[in-house]
Amino acid sequence: MILFDPSDVPANCRIGIMGGTFDPIHIGHLFIAEETLEKLSLDKIIFIPAGVSPHKLNSKTTAPIHRLLMTAIAVNSNRRFYLSDIEIEREGPSYTIDTIRCLKQLLPTDTELFFITGGDTFIDLDSWRDYEQLLQLTNFVVFTRAGYDNVLLDEKIQRFRQQLNSNITKISIPLLEVSSTDIRERAKMGRTIKYLIPDGVEEYILKNRLYKDQEVEK
Ligand code: ATP
Repeated sequence: MILFDPSDVPANCRIGIMGGTFDPIHIGHLFIAEETLEKLSLDKIIFIPAGVSPHKLNSKTTAPIHRLLMTAIAVNSNRRFYLSDIEIEREGPSYTIDTIRCLKQLLPTDTELFFITGGDTFIDLDSWRDYEQLLQLTNFVVFTRAGYDNVLLDEKIQRFRQQLNSNITKISIPLLEVSSTDIRERAKMGRTIKYLIPDGVEEYILKNRLYKDQEVEK
């Protein structure tokens, strides 16, 4: 069973949290999750699709049930990957601070959490709700991302470390220039999306004609 159940977590666990809109989930998401597992010796990663992403309130996103099912298909083949519908089940915008507070209440007190982001997301962290508290409640893992300013990213990481004493690990990866936006555009145009996403997710998109008949949001 891949659904995450906090009551199953033993003492002293190190858990990665992979949040995102996952519209759709792609190899970039899966790779940074797997890389985090290995580099930081984590026990598991929980993928948490956002119900309503606070940063995408003005754009149309695919129905949560489709994003949840695509994420389930993608994570199913990795025994250390789990899925949570906690943000999809919660009303209103999916603020990460609410998710982390909720998980902290449900998990054993000695659980260590690692919130995984791409550099493009992390660079805007100070616009997130209660970001200072968020940086105290969870460790962060930040990945380089194609097309984003590495110097600015390093400055921001430094600032948070100094001002808030936060635990942030930066990991450089071979840059994968893959994004959900590009996959949506390709699917809309009928172009190939093979190898950018797991086979099962491709099948799901084609079968449900996702992105085909809808406006592409950039
Ligand atoms: P969109 O193109 O719709 O904005 P996205 O590809 O950025 O979507 P999200 O679901 O918004 O996907 O991303 C979830 C997290 O994964 C974010 O922290 C994002 O920075 C990170 N991420 C996504 N793609 C990559 C990638 N190719 N390399 C590194 N990090 C990535």
